[in-house]
Amino acid sequence: MKTSIIPIFIPHIGCPYRCVFCNQWKITGQHRVPTATFVKETIQQYMQAATLSRHWEVAFYGGSFTAVPTALQESLLEPATQALRQGKIHGIRCSTRPDAVGKDVIERLLRFGVNTVELGVQSMDDTVLQRAKRGHTATDVVQATRRLHKYGLLVGHQLMPGLPGEDERSLQQTAAAVCALQPDAARIYPVAVLAETELAAQYRQGLYRPLTTAEGIRRGAYLKQRLLEHGIPVIRTGLQATKVLDDGEQVLAGAYTPAMGELIDTYRYRRQLFSLLDRLNLCTSVHIYYAPSETSRVRGYRNITYKYCLWRYRVPFIWQAGKDLPNKRIFVHYGQMVYTIDVDTGGVLITKKEGSYE
Ligand code: SF4
Repeated sequence: MKTSIIPIFIPHIGCPYRCVFCNQWKITGQHRVPTATFVKETIQQYMQAATLSRHWEVAFYGGSFTAVPTALQESLLEPATQALRQGKIHGIRCSTRPDAVGKDVIERLLRFGVNTVELGVQSMDDTVLQRAKRGHTATDVVQATRRLHKYGLLVGHQLMPGLPGEDERSLQQTAAAVCALQPDAARIYPVAVLAETELAAQYRQGLYRPLTTAEGIRRGAYLKQRLLEHGIPVIRTGLQATKVLDDGEQVLAGAYTPAMGELIDTYRYRRQLFSLLDRLNLCTSVHIYYAPSETSRVRGYRNITYKYCLWRYRVPFIWQAGKDLPNKRIFVHYGQMVYTIDVDTGGVLITKKEGSYE
C-alpha cells in the first residue's frame, strides 16, 4: 500500500546550530511552532479528506525533532500516538540530527510509537560537514544509524550533494559509507542556494561556487544509482516545489528545478542505455520496449533521450511501451538478441529473441 505523509513542520526547532545551507522557513513555508491541538486537527483533516486507503504516517519534519525540549516533543507526539493506537494512522516518523539520538531519546520515541527516524546526514566527509557548520561528524552518523537499527527503528538518510568542499572523492566516499550502513531509505537533495542563508552570503562573496542544474543532476544520479545498486530505496530526489520556493526570489542559485526527480531518472536510464548501445556498434534499426509507466524515464524527460539517440547513433529507433512489461527494465532488441537492462542494479541480461511484445 502506498505511504502518504501527514507533515507537521517544526521549522528549525531543536536545532543547536544553523547549518549554512538551511532555511526551513523557506523550504516548509511555515514559521510557527505547532501545538498538540494543531497536530490533532491536522490528522483529522487528512483523514476526512482521504479518499483512498493508504499507509498513513505522521511526520515531524523541518527541524531537529529529538532535540526539541522534551515537554514540547511529548505533547506533539501525544495526538499522533493516540491516532496510531486508534488505527487511524499506521506510523510516526521524524527527522533529526545524527548527534541527537542517544539511548534515552530512542526509548522515548519507541514509547510513543515512532517507527522511523530520518537523519540529516548530508555528507560523510568531515571536512564538508565542518564547512556546512553541521556540528557533527561522519562517525556520529555511523553510530546513530547502528544504534537506531539496534533498537528496531527504520532509518532514513538525507543527503546533499554539492555542499562547499565536496569533490568527486568525497562524493564517492559518502556513497560508499552510506551503502555500508544500509539505511532503510534515502532522500537526495542536490544543493540549492536559498535566500537568507550563510551559503547565500558565501555565494555572493564568491566563496562558494554553486552547482549548475546539470551538475546537480549528475551528482544526484550518481548517488541514487549507487544506493539502488546496494538495495537502498531512494524515496525522494530534489526539494519539493512549493509556492515560496518557486516565487523567483528564494532560490538564488544551485541545482533547483521542480523536475529534479524526473531529470535524475532520465540521466540514470540514459547512461545505462548508452553504455549498452555504445558496445553494440549499431548499424541497423533498434527496438526499445518498456512498461507504459516508464515512458518518460526511458524516452527521457521531454523526449531528450529519444532525440539524443537519433543524433548519437544515426540508425532508426523504434520506441514502444509494451503492456505487461515490468517496471525498471529497458528491453533492447537488436539483431537476433534481446538485451534486458535492469536499471536499478545496472545489470544486463542477454537472451536470444523469441517473439515481440506487440
Ligand atoms: S539542516 Fe537540520 S539541523 Fe541544520 S539547521 Fe536545518 S533543520 Fe536544523
